Amino acid sequence: MSWRDIRCGELRPEHVGQRLTVAGWVDTRRDHGGLVFVDLRDHTGKIQLVLKESEAAHELRNEFVVQAVGEVAARSADAVNPNLATGEVEIQVESLQILSRSTPLPFQVGDDTVEETTRLRYRWLDMRGERMQRNLRMSHAAVSGIRRTMDELGFVDIWTPAMTRGTPEGARDFLVPVRLQPGKFFALAQSPQLFKQLCMIGGLDRYYQIATCWRDEDLRADRQFEFRQLDLEMAFVEREDVLDVMEAAVVGAFEAVGKTAPTRPFPHISYDEAMLKYGSDKPDLRFGMEIQDATEATRGSEFGVFANAPCVRYLVVPKTFSRAEHDRLVLLTKEWGAKGLALLSQVAKFLSPQELEAFGVPEGSSALCVADTEETAARVLGLLRLHLARELDLIPDTDAFHWVVDFPLFKHDEETGAWTFMHHPFTAPTASGERWDPAEPQDVRGQHYDLVWNGWELGSGSIRIHDVDVQERVFTTMGMTDDEAKSKFGFLLDALAMGAPPHGGFAMGIERFVAQLAGEPDIRQIVAFPKVSSGSDPLTGAPTPMPDEVLAESGIRALPQEDPPKA
Ligand code: ASP
Repeated sequence: MSWRDIRCGELRPEHVGQRLTVAGWVDTRRDHGGLVFVDLRDHTGKIQLVLKESEAAHELRNEFVVQAVGEVAARSADAVNPNLATGEVEIQVESLQILSRSTPLPFQVGDDTVEETTRLRYRWLDMRGERMQRNLRMSHAAVSGIRRTMDELGFVDIWTPAMTRGTPEGARDFLVPVRLQPGKFFALAQSPQLFKQLCMIGGLDRYYQIATCWRDEDLRADRQFEFRQLDLEMAFVEREDVLDVMEAAVVGAFEAVGKTAPTRPFPHISYDEAMLKYGSDKPDLRFGMEIQDATEATRGSEFGVFANAPCVRYLVVPKTFSRAEHDRLVLLTKEWGAKGLALLSQVAKFLSPQELEAFGVPEGSSALCVADTEETAARVLGLLRLHLARELDLIPDTDAFHWVVDFPLFKHDEETGAWTFMHHPFTAPTASGERWDPAEPQDVRGQHYDLVWNGWELGSGSIRIHDVDVQERVFTTMGMTDDEAKSKFGFLLDALAMGAPPHGGFAMGIERFVAQLAGEPDIRQIVAFPKVSSGSDPLTGAPTPMPDEVLAESGIRALPQEDPPKA
């Protein structure tokens, strides 16, 4: 016996007259003198059941699971529901069986006003709704499209360990104690970076994996502790070869979910241009409103705030601002670290006509100016650009994919004052930059590239170092002694010294990508069982303390916690 002949959303006028069995969840129940109407639901949609009054019909409550047998009938013209795909028909039920009951519900399926922690606590109910059904299925389709593309392009899916040594991707590691070796720990892979490079050295020239990665970072709209990425690596390639494959994978995913794919090739923008014009290394290019520079134009100004600042930049916004509106923006930019935000019209009296003209502000628009270090001016105006574009509704409903290229290889670590990597320490410098002085690495450019979609960084990659001397120089620049480098990365240095082909790769965050595809504001809506911002899972209650005996087996003793974080 099968539980059903057809799914709820599949009934159409062509089934009229057939006796069919359906099964699903009670979505709603309405009593109408002598008749009970039930909308029966599964992931394909809803079908109206018409039941004669009976004990079973009265017992039905929302989310009971039932099986019904009956004849499919056409609805009378005035009862047709044009909003339902099955709205022209209904089932005249002959027999009804309750397969499973439900306790009173914490919320109704499909109610979009429910607080997120409650949705996550009862995720199985939340999943029955249209939103999560659509997102999880879309995620599956996108991943299938990616896999198909990778397969067609001759990539080999290779599984790499989750439990490994720390992998430097810029986050903290999650640690795994080892009972067989108390006091020692694995780190959960922040990415399969070094394993995929070893695959290249091992002669597998096209690797990919939908890899789970773990990073101990604060959770945000686009970050969870664990996430998946399309991780790939290729040997004997240059940057354009990698970008080409990534674009094919993106297009493959778009096609698999039935959306119009972005036009290839995706445009390139350099890191310097992105920082200058948009104040961000992941600029949203769906709209203009570029940051302008008035540093030179105001060098000799009588207005000291501009003349003495290392950098003067501004945004031209198609709007005039009231005093109160301006004050509010000043507060906001101060929170972002600016000393102030000048409205050009308010300081115009201190500026010469030539200086004013250099700003070039059209009638009806305003210039909002930041006079500060270059770093602060870029960052603050970048954030303000996004803030105002959203507030003034300037972002068109289009898609902008692009590559950010030509990053510096190193950056200053604010905390330690030392030089550190921009992407990861395995990224190759450009060919011209291979012999830098480890004490002066500021001008070295890396062969690193990022993929950005509508202001979301989807992923990063690079051409890697395949020369052991260059790899050692990177470690030295980062302040590592030879012994440290050998103890942490000796296996990589050994491998690089035994015939490493030129290689490069990329990784794209699957959940970020699908969240954008689905038009969702955060990746929790794409993940079946995500964690909330405190790092807890409201469904299972994890993480939990462990009994002392269990910890002791791995050689661990927990410190008393004064204020344990709440779920
Ligand atoms: N391992 C890098 C990451 O996870 C990606 C790459 O360079 O291929 O971001």
